[in-house]
Amino acid sequence: MHPQSIQKLIDLFSKFPTVGPRIATRFVFYLIKMPGNKFEELMNSLKKLKQMIKLCPSCFNPFDPSANSGQALQSTSEQKGTLCPICQNNSRDKNILCIVEKETDLEAIEKTKLYKGIYFILGGTINLKKEKGIRIKELKEKITRENFKEIIIAINPTLEGESTSLFLQRELKPFGIKITKLGRGLPIGGELEYADEETLSSALEGRR
Ligand SMILES: [Zn+2]
Repeated sequence: MHPQSIQKLIDLFSKFPTVGPRIATRFVFYLIKMPGNKFEELMNSLKKLKQMIKLCPSCFNPFDPSANSGQALQSTSEQKGTLCPICQNNSRDKNILCIVEKETDLEAIEKTKLYKGIYFILGGTINLKKEKGIRIKELKEKITRENFKEIIIAINPTLEGESTSLFLQRELKPFGIKITKLGRGLPIGGELEYADEETLSSALEGRR
């Protein structure tokens, strides 16, 4: 058994995506060996991450509200209505909504430079009929509030992803909006963020 201060950190790191207890343990021993100044740098970066990065209230994409103006952060009440650069961009098509599971999936689709609509980050998937922190209420509110002509469900073609897609199709049907899914070609069981740009582009173009 590790001393409590080590075990506590292992437990925290173990909750990171794709990190299990073994890797978490290696992280902690790496941190112990880390030179003081590097450790300080890491601590400051972590603090800054929480201070500077906000979730877009419309699509839940994390972004730095101060990045556009280059000014220091203003009071929190003033930032509240601030949207991310994608939602703010007037050249994006506000009639098309693409639903993704997580931030890295959004980034993968952005990389194709093919998609010109806006996004919604669902924040999770459905596993064994259990919703794991997905923003279904927020999604429905957004669809009610805005005027979409097409909703693209771009969820990973994994087992959980497929149940999530089905769930979304069922939940969003009453809105009477055209719902499409990414076309075939994405590897079954794979994740969008690992698909090459060409595959993802053709899946996007072949949506139906
Ligand atoms: Zn946004």
